Amino acid sequence: MEDRIARWETVIGLETHVELATERKLFCSCSAAFGAPANQNCCPLCLGEPGVRPVLNEKAVELAVRGALALGCRVETVSVFDRKHYSSPDLPRGYQITQFYRPLARDGAVRITPENGQEHTVHIAQVHLEDDAGRLFHDWEHGDTRVDFNRSGVPLIEIVTRPDFRNGDEVVAYLEELKTILQYLGVSDCKLQEGSLRCDVNLSVRPEGSTELGTRTEMKNLGSFRAVRRAIEYESRRQIALLERGERVVQETRRWDEDRNESISMRSKEDARDYHYFPEPDLPPLVLSEEYLLDLRARQPELPGEKRARYSREYGLPDYDARMLTGQRALAEFFERTVALGAQPKQAANWIMGQVLRQLSQRNIGAEHMSLSPEALVKILALVEEGRINRNTAVQVFDAVFDGGDPEQYVKANRLEQVSDTGLVERAVERVIRENPGPVSDFRAGKEKSFGFLVGQTMRLLGGKADPKTINIILKNKLVVE
Ligand code: ADP
Ligand code: MG
Ligand code: ZN
Repeated sequence: MEDRIARWETVIGLETHVELATERKLFCSCSAAFGAPANQNCCPLCLGEPGVRPVLNEKAVELAVRGALALGCRVETVSVFDRKHYSSPDLPRGYQITQFYRPLARDGAVRITPENGQEHTVHIAQVHLEDDAGRLFHDWEHGDTRVDFNRSGVPLIEIVTRPDFRNGDEVVAYLEELKTILQYLGVSDCKLQEGSLRCDVNLSVRPEGSTELGTRTEMKNLGSFRAVRRAIEYESRRQIALLERGERVVQETRRWDEDRNESISMRSKEDARDYHYFPEPDLPPLVLSEEYLLDLRARQPELPGEKRARYSREYGLPDYDARMLTGQRALAEFFERTVALGAQPKQAANWIMGQVLRQLSQRNIGAEHMSLSPEALVKILALVEEGRINRNTAVQVFDAVFDGGDPEQYVKANRLEQVSDTGLVERAVERVIRENPGPVSDFRAGKEKSFGFLVGQTMRLLGGKADPKTINIILKNKLVVE
């Protein structure tokens, strides 16, 4: 089986819809917020009543342009809206407003590093603006369907790639990169579970070595990265099996069924549906000045990929660290401020990847909602550096001030400073030696392990507040010399 699969190549292109993070809808002033009671955020325009003119939301244009620029696209100074006609209960107007003949932007590129793969470029064919449809809720039990028009008219960008993917790992790496970039810019929150990022997978197979594209199917309803991976695996096996039986692949749209773990034909696309596109008569062409585009380009923040490269170059961090720290914009900012306050970069990175991420995942929050300040972390690092607290105490202090508080004060109030009085350490060591004759003679007989036990006992007597190095030296002296 594996052998036969190796003779086929899977080819995938992605169409990703991303909801823009605007307050209002694309063509009216209704709220675009997610999660309101059904049909609350609607007006005659988003309900498709005739005689109401669309007015373009400038903020949506700005977010779309910023997204397209970050994806390396050439943004057109003139783009045009078109009507795309089709009939569906969630589309009362009977057409979607999109950009078909003259899209907003073209020819972008995204660098990806797939799991088990090499870093390479995925090409973006185009990015265009359009409005979303409403949502249908099927109640199979009672056999009825309800519709919520809150989403109707929410601004989207559709990002279309060239057929540059060969497997699910590459597709997921691309989606993750896309998500990170768009979240960085505040273009979208990209929540798969709320539908603000949705992707359709176009997939075909062809004999290894062939340069022609095979007949493709398009899969919809992929609600998670896991579903994307499984759907790709399933669909490429299905197509290979068809071709090996001498049958052919039918060009069609298929729906991924997460529970049944298979894709199901929705509608045939054999003759490509006729959407009867024509330019939207109620909207003038979208004209963007060169200055406007230059200004947005100048204000574009450093992107995650650029940050990653700089972290390796400037701070000498391993690629893994650079990736983790730049995964969330707020986390990267926290790291940079910590370093700017004087922390050693690798040490700051370790604390952030270990302790900060541990606290965040326990609370299930993103770094943007964290109240710990870079100043507090730097203080903790300094307390360790100065030998005033040891590493274990530092973690305790960190947890205590994570939601706010001053490390220095906390250490004082809880008397956590290390015992720097060597006389005290000496007396504790003497007592431990007296009370543990067994381990002591074991050590003297050459059992190195007993040493650790004795250090631990001394640390316990000192309430965990001693510098382990001091204990080590004094203990060794007493055991060896005396
Ligand atoms: P449509 O107009 O039907 O949506 P497009 O030409 O816009 O078709 O392509 C949609 C997506 O499908 C793009 O991401 C493209 O790369 C991908 N695609 C097109 N043909 C194939 C194919 N034969 N195999 C795999 N992907 C394909
Ligand atoms: Mg398309
Ligand atoms: Zn409205």
